[in-house]
Amino acid sequence: MKTNAVQRRNRRGRVIVISGPSGVGKSTICREALRRLKNVHLSVSLTTRPPGPNEQNGRDYWFVSEQEFRERIERGLLLEYANVFGNLYGTPKDKVDEALEAGQSVVLEIDVQGGKQAKAVYPDAVMIFILPPDENALAERIGRRGRDSAEVIRKRLDKAGAEIASAREHYDHMVINEDLERAIDDVVGIIEQALDGGASPRRRGSSVGEH
Ligand code: 5GP
Repeated sequence: MKTNAVQRRNRRGRVIVISGPSGVGKSTICREALRRLKNVHLSVSLTTRPPGPNEQNGRDYWFVSEQEFRERIERGLLLEYANVFGNLYGTPKDKVDEALEAGQSVVLEIDVQGGKQAKAVYPDAVMIFILPPDENALAERIGRRGRDSAEVIRKRLDKAGAEIASAREHYDHMVINEDLERAIDDVVGIIEQALDGGASPRRRGSSVGEH
């Protein structure tokens, strides 16, 4: 038991990319999935977009100026970045690498352009894409969120179609968010299985020696 625990701690963590159209429920799924998983953390991205209602600097994003963002790109501090709806979004590399070295895994909740870049840097990244049950459900959720103008809502829906097509090529796991609890279970299951690295099913679900 002791040896197992030590071996697990020494193992390098994995990068887990979770993407999906905006409004699909990604953030809720990620937050709930992470509450159930040990040694898996969410990476906090940088963005140049202004904070929305209830968003906090350092918790939801690091809200930075475009100049600051560009400086980080030039200094090679971002492991991936993309322009999404006219704003820049990117993942700080140092925090991810520190976590991986310490045997922790890191979830990147990022768009498909960024997901592809992350996969190029970490070829063993676990790639999960969340799908809406249908397009109407997506439009309704984006509208209900009350954060976006009509123009932005239209852009988000246009991008969703393109992302879904591209995801089929680059992502290993597609999870449909028809029922929230089920989608969370699916994501947790995919991550647990990937982190177990093909261990026998006997070990999965066992709480013995997990601490
Ligand atoms: P939102 O503005 O709705 O929070 O995010 C818009 C889109 O940007 C979402 O698809 C989200 O996943 C993506 N995103 C958030 N952080 C990052 C990041 O660090 N890199 C990339 N490439 N996309 C991101």
